[in-house]
Amino acid sequence: MVRGALWLLQVVGEGGTFTKNELRKAFPGVSQVDRRIRDLRDYGWVVHSSAEDASLLAEDQRFVKAGVAVWDPRERRQASPRKAMSSKERQAVLIRDGYMCTLCGIAGAEPYPDDAVMTAVLAVSRRSIRGADGSETEMLVTECVRCRSGRESSTVDEREVLMAARELNPGDRRRLIRWMGRGRRGSTELDRAWAAYLRTPKDRRHHIADQLRQEQ
Ligand SMILES: [Zn+2]
Repeated sequence: MVRGALWLLQVVGEGGTFTKNELRKAFPGVSQVDRRIRDLRDYGWVVHSSAEDASLLAEDQRFVKAGVAVWDPRERRQASPRKAMSSKERQAVLIRDGYMCTLCGIAGAEPYPDDAVMTAVLAVSRRSIRGADGSETEMLVTECVRCRSGRESSTVDEREVLMAARELNPGDRRRLIRWMGRGRRGSTELDRAWAAYLRTPKDRRHHIADQLRQEQ
């Protein structure tokens, strides 16, 4: 991709046209060189084919505009393409996170405790996580739509957080510190059981509850 980008800039030049044949000749022995040029689009490079630009012949493509400097590893990382995630990928993230928002912990379809009208809708988004060494990595996480939109219910005094944390039992306190370190909530067995319950059809839920009551 880097070589393709440099070739476009240095040989074709912005506004210039090229054919698939010229592209293949420029990169002998490189497989799928077309795809490498297409991948540049994810980094903001604009290359038009005759489908997008009627003045071009069928075999021609026009290099319209350069995008992110993909040869610079830092710029390239920052601009990492937002590829659509597959439904399989999305499903795997939801399962890993127990169908719960990794920020507020709400389960899908559960009403918000401070908003009886709204129920949670879960989405999978990309979030950058800062590691202990300061490096940033991007990962897919489950978030509810409300947390994702960044709506803050209200700001809380720092002392209130500390006070609440100090009242936790040692195990929960350690868990909280772990969540703070990761920037996302983990789930407990209890959370997972509750979230699983909420994923059952509404008309079956009372059977489940009855059964558990009898077992107690
Ligand atoms: Zn949330």
